[in-house]
Amino acid sequence: MTDKGSNAGEPSRFGRVFRFVTHYWLLSPVLFGSLVIARIASTLVDVTVPIASGRLVDAVASGSRDDPAPALWALALLVSLAAIFQVSRQLVTFLLNRMSARAITAIGRDAFAKVQRFSSDWHANSFAGATVRKITRGMNAFDTFTDTLAFNLAPALIVVIGVTVTFTLRWPVLGALVGACIVVFIAASVALSILWVSPANRAAREMDSRLSGTLADSVSGNPTVKSFAAEGREDALFAGVAAKWASRSIVAWDRGAWTGLAQALMLIVLQAVMLTTGIYLWREGRASPGDIASLIATQFLITGYLRDIAQNVRQIQRTINDMDDVLDFRDADFDVADKPGAKALKVDRGAIAFDDVTFRYKGARGPVFANFSLEIPAGQRVGLVGHSGSGKSTFVKLIQRLYDLEGGAIRIDGQDISAVTQASLREAVGLVPQDPILFHRSLAENVAYGRPGTSIDEIREAARLAHAAEFIEGLPKGYDTLVGERGVKLSGGERQRVAIARAILANTPVLVLDEATSSLDSISERLIRQAIERLSAGRTTIVVAHRLSTIQRLDRILVFDHGEVVEDGTHDALLARPQGTYRRLLEVQLGAGEIVDAAQ
Ligand code: ADP
Ligand code: MG
Repeated sequence: MTDKGSNAGEPSRFGRVFRFVTHYWLLSPVLFGSLVIARIASTLVDVTVPIASGRLVDAVASGSRDDPAPALWALALLVSLAAIFQVSRQLVTFLLNRMSARAITAIGRDAFAKVQRFSSDWHANSFAGATVRKITRGMNAFDTFTDTLAFNLAPALIVVIGVTVTFTLRWPVLGALVGACIVVFIAASVALSILWVSPANRAAREMDSRLSGTLADSVSGNPTVKSFAAEGREDALFAGVAAKWASRSIVAWDRGAWTGLAQALMLIVLQAVMLTTGIYLWREGRASPGDIASLIATQFLITGYLRDIAQNVRQIQRTINDMDDVLDFRDADFDVADKPGAKALKVDRGAIAFDDVTFRYKGARGPVFANFSLEIPAGQRVGLVGHSGSGKSTFVKLIQRLYDLEGGAIRIDGQDISAVTQASLREAVGLVPQDPILFHRSLAENVAYGRPGTSIDEIREAARLAHAAEFIEGLPKGYDTLVGERGVKLSGGERQRVAIARAILANTPVLVLDEATSSLDSISERLIRQAIERLSAGRTTIVVAHRLSTIQRLDRILVFDHGEVVEDGTHDALLARPQGTYRRLLEVQLGAGEIVDAAQ
């Protein structure tokens, strides 16, 4: 993420959250409008219930026993108001259920869509578990935020304002005083929340994500943990992160509690102000004992609601903090982005050209490629060999534009790949990675991932060509077998063959195999070599190979060394160079004696 937005000041963070939540509320404007109206109506009805009770009391007190009509009318009014209140309150619930469900799914969908499209670099540097937690936490927080606002904060505010206004009409001076106290109380609560509690909450939340990330990392790495009997070490790692989480959480929670205390003290001051003024008015002869009684009742009402408001402000602020990460996702720029108006790549033959390419990984000292140029004609089958770290994987990642270049351009059929849409590029370039990742779905679905909607016959045929059919059909559930998270229930070679079957179905004009045979035994390797030969017929193919036997029969072999092509030719041509790197690599793999035979 280039723009993390985390340096923004607290108030602007809150502005950002409010823009965010209103965006999702207004996804269904009619629903939202009805909700606001229903909420205001039901609260006002609630406030008028005491007035209606007063009416009833007056009607009974001043009416005659022979004519109960006024009292019965007052009773009818009271009962209907109570009924209207209950119905309108539930109406708020029904409306809110729909609005929240829609908004929450939209938030999840948008965050997921964005995260999926972040660069490979971003994913390599993020804990999957923490990312999952950030998204689900943001969705929950939005829900709580909206509920708190609709059911607690908004009604409380409406009541407090309503009561203060009525009060001011009766005693302007006292009303103004109470109003001022309320404004100070709410302003102080919000300021404390935003400026003091919120930063501590954010620090705690960071650790909360780290905790989830650590757990997910250890749990998904369990096979490694087991093989090194490292459960104790992982326990300690978890305990370390948990301890940090605990200490940060205590700070955040304590600040919340201190804020609560400050608010309680402010409420006592408010009560004292109201009652002192009441006594003063009584001494002046401007208030009767009855007035003092209603003053006390009002003061209880207001402080009760203010206490609610304070609590809900804290709740709101916590949920605002919890939405922060989802907001960061939303605001982040893509490291590798489609240019505005980028067109789809049109591949007819699949010629690849590296033109003066310079590339360096972020934070790396030197470039992997500096002014690197190379042409691969359409339909050519090229093998890449070279020591580990010589840049072979980077070369194929650049063809897929998993990273952007520092200089130069890569072209496919003459089109700069940085100027076309990434989706069209990756649809044109098939990849069988070194360590294919499968989904915890059926084998049929995994094979069909290259071309959704494929018939089972086509899936079987692809599996057969990739020599995957043999093992799949031997499984009790065949193509319906679930493969475990990331495909852990299959061996490396089996996963590789599923990935090749996938690539066969995807049928892309350009094909890249990154050390696809390195984890195979020699028999599977021979089968896969045949599969690759079938697969690569007629398409531009790049095969990164550790095992040189895999690539001997390709059209051209490139030997990489420190980001340069040091040898370029056919197997036979390269073998003919006595001191050549390719020949030396082959000698190491086969033993010198066999090479002599091979050369003869
Ligand atoms: P090969 O596939 O030939 O073994 P790579 O292309 O994977 O080599 O790596 C080329 C160089 O780039 C190596 O020095 C490696 O350490 C470095 N490298 C690879 N991936 C990254 C990365 N994500 N971030 C930083 N450096 C990397
Ligand atoms: Mg590699």
